[in-house]
Amino acid sequence: AIPLVVAISTAIAAQKGLLIRNRTAFEEARKITAMVFDKTGTLTEGEFGVTRIRVLSKQSDENTFLRIVAALEQQSQHPIAQGIVREAKKRDLDLPAISDFQSITGKGVSATVDGQRVLVVSPGYLKEKGIPTPPDAFSSGAETVVFVLMNDQLAGFIALADKIREDSKEAVQRLQQSGIKVFMATGDNQKVADAVARELGLDGVYAEVLPDQKVSVVKELQRQGAFVAMTGDGVNDAPALAQANVGIAVGSGTDVAAETADIILVNSKPTDITNLVEFGRATYRKMI
Ligand code: ADP
Ligand code: MG
Repeated sequence: AIPLVVAISTAIAAQKGLLIRNRTAFEEARKITAMVFDKTGTLTEGEFGVTRIRVLSKQSDENTFLRIVAALEQQSQHPIAQGIVREAKKRDLDLPAISDFQSITGKGVSATVDGQRVLVVSPGYLKEKGIPTPPDAFSSGAETVVFVLMNDQLAGFIALADKIREDSKEAVQRLQQSGIKVFMATGDNQKVADAVARELGLDGVYAEVLPDQKVSVVKELQRQGAFVAMTGDGVNDAPALAQANVGIAVGSGTDVAAETADIILVNSKPTDITNLVEFGRATYRKMI
């Protein structure tokens, strides 16, 4: 049988915007000593707007380039992809048909468009392939930049900007006041990660991490003796949510993250986690 105090607590939790999928996780929330947040869609809104488009080939122009990239991104659920497609719609571009769409988890997407193999990928992917990044790609620290390859040649890049969620800073501060170290693990580039970390006053940041490396971040903190919670929204966060002592999914995120998590933030508000920790500690005091 479920102890009455837990049943009541779970009901109260629901009023606080928390969906408890695993009762033990709720009881464990009070033990958290380290919190790892994903960035995009978790600490930020995950609503990207295009800020710059750079076409490297002299034979092409911005709209021709954007049209191809958006055609490919139309098949992706990623917030970056949605931002690029919105920009193409704003410009009234009609998008060509594509074939052989593939997603490269945590790195980007690829497809065949107008007979060319097109890839839209992260800076980390370029580094891996030994392709140098154009000097003006990271001119502004706060932008997320994705690179476009056409038939294995670097064809250009698109820079985008996202907004930090309104209550992220308060959530981070209150967790820290509860004695919890707060970290961020993101697939995005180091400059953006550092800008967000500075703005929010984080205790540590891991940038350009691939999905399996998010798991390693959680494991490493656990090895150091921490009781780790992970909060994320994406398919790429699911393995880390599973590894964490407490896995928390953002309500606006993907089904895969929600299915893996112990707790879901129904209103996608980071401060609801803070309430959970404070509330978990208070509830436990009542039980003993
Ligand atoms: P995060 O950890 O910030 O949620 P992801 O792991 O989902 O980021 O993605 C990591 C990086 O992979 C992105 O910053 C981007 O560079 C690249 N990427 C992933 N999906 C796409 C896509 N559909 N289009 C372009 N780039 C993508
Ligand atoms: Mg994310």
